[in-house]
Amino acid sequence: MQTLIKNGTIITEKATIRADLLIGGEKIIQISDTIQTDSSARIFDATGLLVLPGGVDVHVHLDLPMFGTVSSDDHYTGTKAAAFGGTTTVIDFVSQNSDNLLKNVKQLREKAERNAAIDFGLHANITHLSTVVEKAIPSLVKEGITSVKVFTAYNNRLRLLDGEIFKVMRIARDNGILTMLHAENGDVIELLVNEAIAEGHITPEWHSRTRPVWGSVEAVVRGSALSAIANAPLYIVHMNAAGEVDQLEYARKQGLNVMGETCPQYLFFTEEDLKKPDGSKWICSPPVRKEEDQKRLWEGLLTGVIQTIATDHCPFFYDGTKPIVYEDKPIAIPGKELGRNDFTKIPNGLPGVGDRMPVMWTEMVSSGRFSASQFVSLTCANPARIFGMYPQKGTIQIGSDADLVIWDSNLIVNYGVAHSQQRTDYNLYEGWKLRGFPVQVFSRGDLIVDRGNWLGKPGRGKYIHREPFVNQ
Ligand SMILES: [Zn+2]
Repeated sequence: MQTLIKNGTIITEKATIRADLLIGGEKIIQISDTIQTDSSARIFDATGLLVLPGGVDVHVHLDLPMFGTVSSDDHYTGTKAAAFGGTTTVIDFVSQNSDNLLKNVKQLREKAERNAAIDFGLHANITHLSTVVEKAIPSLVKEGITSVKVFTAYNNRLRLLDGEIFKVMRIARDNGILTMLHAENGDVIELLVNEAIAEGHITPEWHSRTRPVWGSVEAVVRGSALSAIANAPLYIVHMNAAGEVDQLEYARKQGLNVMGETCPQYLFFTEEDLKKPDGSKWICSPPVRKEEDQKRLWEGLLTGVIQTIATDHCPFFYDGTKPIVYEDKPIAIPGKELGRNDFTKIPNGLPGVGDRMPVMWTEMVSSGRFSASQFVSLTCANPARIFGMYPQKGTIQIGSDADLVIWDSNLIVNYGVAHSQQRTDYNLYEGWKLRGFPVQVFSRGDLIVDRGNWLGKPGRGKYIHREPFVNQ
């Protein structure tokens, strides 16, 4: 079946064009001034509306076990929430549950394939290195996994030593794999957390006080240095601090292939939010920082030092003892209340996958600070390109997947938990007035969101076999 989107204004990372767009099956097959179709085609009139590529969120955690509970969005609910917010592609992370990387991948992939409502890819976490793992890393590529994530924090849990990170980077480099880095100082955090607990500090603000910003700054330098020595590309996830942007800029000025991502929570919230009575809602790692950090992150986005905006979506209930109604059924999942008497037991993570596109559009484009094309670059095209999915995803071209959003840039939405589709009991943007919101969302040609109505279903999302990393 053919679908025609008429009279819309198409936005890509490079251009804004008034054109009709024709979808044949799962692909975009024609873009031109005026397209005529036979009477069997479905027609959407996008007069006065924009047509954007579906959003690409390359940093989400779905159905992730943590602190004796699990993040409250699974591969169905999280991808459904993504779709409502105009995101049609996500990348989740495979935990290294064993040294058999391919077995870990297979388990997560099968679960996600049964549940995902939009297309998804996978990154592989490398959190324990052995000769078996070193040999297995290259085999990820033929599974379509062309990025691995390493951590300089979470001692005795996820962290690798510098020498191990260096080894991973070299193996990755030789196989077209991009190394991603969670940049914080694990030793410092371990010490400060133990001291804080011993001194009886239990409130959420101690989460940020025990994760000092300089630990992140030095970890970005360290990661860049290792990437320079290994001659390997590097992608810094969830950058939250001014000093990190400075160091990323320095690395890039040296000609290093180091890239950076930030997330909406770091652009809009600060440590002051952690001091509120419900401060645990803002607990994520790394933590939200200060206003001067927000300012530098915005500058980094504007000047191109930072390449992508993702979410690190990993929601928990604020009060998981009280059920919410989701798809007509009550559900409660233990959440932030687990850490009521100990900040180290508050599950780390925030909702965001469905909020990202409309919140960022409001603050970037409706505010007049960024062009629509810059918005598309940071939320769609750059992430797709860096992670080997372009031009299948992240753009509007003939031959690209018909992942499209008909977007009303004048639609005003009083946003909050009642409006967002994330399966949790709160929303960080409660009471925000958003300007610009999806009207219709297509995933590979299927209309899955139509003016607030859900037409998608679990298992329709396909696994994306990503291409090897190429230098950006
Ligand atoms: Zn994450």
